[in-house]
Amino acid sequence: MKKQTCDVLIIGGGIVGLSLAKGLEQLGISYRLVDESLSKPFSGIRPLALSKTSIAILKYLNIWSSVWAQTTNIRNIHVSVESAFGHLLLNEKQLEHLGAVIDLNELQKAICAQLHETKALINGRFLSFDAKTQTVTIQQDEAFFDIETKIIIAADGALSSVRKACGLPVELEPEQEAVIGMLSLKHPHEGLAFERFTDIGPLALLPWHTHDMAIVWSLSKKNAQLMRDQHFSDVKDRLEKQLAHRMGDILSVQSIRTYPLRQIFMPVQSYQNILFLGNAAHTLHPVAGQGFNLSLRDVVTFLSVLQEYGISSDTFPIYLLRRKKDQEFTLKLTRFLASGFNRFPGFIKGIGLIALSNHLGLRQTFSNYAQGLGYPLPEEIYNFLEEGHE
Ligand SMILES: Cc1cc2nc3c(=O)[nH]c(=O)nc-3n(C[C@H](O)[C@H](O)[C@H](O)COP(=O)(O)OP(=O)(O)OC[C@H]3O[C@@H](n4cnc5c(N)ncnc54)[C@H](O)[C@@H]3O)c2cc1C
Repeated sequence: MKKQTCDVLIIGGGIVGLSLAKGLEQLGISYRLVDESLSKPFSGIRPLALSKTSIAILKYLNIWSSVWAQTTNIRNIHVSVESAFGHLLLNEKQLEHLGAVIDLNELQKAICAQLHETKALINGRFLSFDAKTQTVTIQQDEAFFDIETKIIIAADGALSSVRKACGLPVELEPEQEAVIGMLSLKHPHEGLAFERFTDIGPLALLPWHTHDMAIVWSLSKKNAQLMRDQHFSDVKDRLEKQLAHRMGDILSVQSIRTYPLRQIFMPVQSYQNILFLGNAAHTLHPVAGQGFNLSLRDVVTFLSVLQEYGISSDTFPIYLLRRKKDQEFTLKLTRFLASGFNRFPGFIKGIGLIALSNHLGLRQTFSNYAQGLGYPLPEEIYNFLEEGHE
């Protein structure tokens, strides 16, 4: 194949690489996106909680209108601790939007469909790069070809082969596993999301359509495997105990499986003409549902810097400076909720929840950070924040 050229080469067409491609397309910047599994069909459901800010960004990227009909609004968030009294209820009426739940695979499919015509998506695998000639070698089946590019965006996931090729360090947290699945309720959930710090690990239930809830229970590997091997009726009993019948009867629990939870953070996210985004730069524990939300804020900030400064020696440093505080805060909060919080005695956790629950100012601040509003966003996003969900 003839050598191709572009301004931006994205390695990795997961949800982050695809979102960036959509933004570049909109700005008229020449790009290519290479992914080794573009031709594989999407399978299963992967529920993803989107913050209010992420919805605004997806509107800005002209993606939201093609997916919103398949989303479920979050109207209330109930937070509790297994071994303590007290709970926190975040309510849509008091705090405006609390976000929505979407199937990650549907979102990916929708963006792929929009980009299909552009011919910028390449089914292939990153092999190596040559910094001197700014050339990347791609493998496609048995063939190899080169792409010459001004900058490379590595969005190739937690086990990033671009990161390995650069020999860059990462901070690693101990691996856990998530038990994921779906439950069906007798009564409608009314948009309630449920977060419970159980004695064995945080449990999140996300509202799905009208009567279903997606389960994400983060556990030690041993506990996750034990639960995966249990009969569905035992898992149902355990969930009913945690819910304390707040949601009425659970009719069934389906599709229980385990998913590895890696936690990775790159303290230095650029190298020569390469910038790391998404799971490649930071793979967060799902306890606070912030991984993709944080990455979307990264993507839109990068697009804004490109618009302001073009591709120059300033682009990466300015982007990294603008994203530093949000990334560090979100990482600290997620690490705390994933492991630090459970180390406190039950009554302290209970007091914390009661304090948050009774103090509107505290509750508003907490919600602002959870909704991605804690740090400045590019100007253009604020207009979309004012609109409703549709
Ligand atoms: C259980 C669970 C629940 C979650 N819930 C939420 C939530 O509610 N809200 C939220 O915001 N986030 C959530 N997340 C996080 C979210 O799923 C991730 O942030 C997001 O999927 C990261 O996408 P990505 O594109 O960066 O990486 P990936 O999805 O890993 O994509 C990487 C892509 O790179 C490609 N690739 C890899 N190597 C190469 C190569 N050598 N050449 C070419 N291509 C390559 C792969 O094929 C893949 O398509 C959750 C995560 C988990 C595990």
